[in-house]
Amino acid sequence: MRMVDLIEKKVNHEELSHDEIQFIVDGFVSGEIPDYQMSALMMAIVLNDMNEREAADLTLSMMRSGDTVDLSDLPGVKVDKHSSGGVGDTTTLVVAPLVAACGGTVAKMSGRGLAFSGGTLDKLESIPGVNIAQPIDRFKEIVRKTGVCVIGQTGNLVPADKKMYALRDVTGTVQSVPLIAASIMSKKLAAGADAIVLDVKVGSGAFMKTVEDAKRLASLMVKMGKLLKREVVAVVTDMNQPLGLSVGNALEFREAVQLLSGKVPEGDALYEVCMLLGTQMLLLSNLTKTDAEARCMLKQAIDTGAGLDKLRAMIHEMGGDETCLTLDGMDKLCAVKRQVPITADHAGYIVGMQAELIGRAAQVLGAGRATKEDVIDPAVGLIMHKRVGDKVEKGEAFCTLYVNDEKNLGDAITTMREAISIGAKPEHVAPMVYAVVR
Ligand code: URA
Ligand code: CA
Repeated sequence: MRMVDLIEKKVNHEELSHDEIQFIVDGFVSGEIPDYQMSALMMAIVLNDMNEREAADLTLSMMRSGDTVDLSDLPGVKVDKHSSGGVGDTTTLVVAPLVAACGGTVAKMSGRGLAFSGGTLDKLESIPGVNIAQPIDRFKEIVRKTGVCVIGQTGNLVPADKKMYALRDVTGTVQSVPLIAASIMSKKLAAGADAIVLDVKVGSGAFMKTVEDAKRLASLMVKMGKLLKREVVAVVTDMNQPLGLSVGNALEFREAVQLLSGKVPEGDALYEVCMLLGTQMLLLSNLTKTDAEARCMLKQAIDTGAGLDKLRAMIHEMGGDETCLTLDGMDKLCAVKRQVPITADHAGYIVGMQAELIGRAAQVLGAGRATKEDVIDPAVGLIMHKRVGDKVEKGEAFCTLYVNDEKNLGDAITTMREAISIGAKPEHVAPMVYAVVR
């Protein structure tokens, strides 16, 4: 087999066989297939797509490119959740402990922030002492003891994705439904959970910009899970504005602690998406049979403080200072040199937000990395005071920036102003949930 022939096949809209896909993944991981040929192939996939069979073969070849985690010696259904990436998406820090408090077993590997989107690992590290690099045996021990643990992906899990992702990032080949599906599902399947709840984000702050693409990605990933006998449910949710009101690492952790302390009302977007994800996780874990009962269980875990206790127990086991996880303690972790309100220059209604720009504003203040070497400042970021559809007066603050280093403050202010559109009349507000795909 020659790689150049396989690239030409894809260029000519032909289907790649199982053996051809295996040859490509093996050759690329071993270094026999150079980056330039792999980029050419991935560009052909971006332009000419893959069918479901090809996408499934790609996922399985990628999954088998490295180690896989065996969680079978842990009791019960091991349930994982994954978001395709967004802004202000703090759901893991809320849902993982809540599901554990309801009797679930949550063993999850998370990622770092990518470009404008935040990452759970960076948020966890905003708590002093937390070590996200737990060895697998210790990871399992924590899950056995507390019912929940969220760590970083270990060493040699899906090396094919590490190499492909790095190349896609710099060759304009991120935006492909089969490539994204294979990237996400190869990692989720390798991480060993029995049941997986996927949150596919759609909108200005997500990789998927249309509901149609997001639904296609969701159903493709559900089908791949079934091939490997895993229970997979995907929800398609809105990312046309930040999910929570906080964007930044300690700030998002604080919002999670506030929610788990009963300080965030029902109907709030973050609250409702957490309820939706938690419900699906409890259903897949066979801990309840109905959505209504699942919601009741989750609410009770908030009301009794059992969810917050689980989060504290997990942080303690991971070496972190769990005494920070109070409302006052989190305020201290979010203390900054300056809080800078951004005010509306005219009255009206918030008719749109570009969530990606809001993520970027937080990033330039130090909440995210522009290069791999950048160090994150956990306290900085921003708090939104308005959501799409809200009325705003002239001079009223729609957002407050949390600032330590003023170097990029001007840039952050300009970016935030660009991110928010204020109109004379309220416009259509996007729904929070578009679909649940089983
Ligand atoms: N997240 C992933 O892990 N991979 C992608 O390709 C996109 C989002
Ligand atoms: Ca985020």
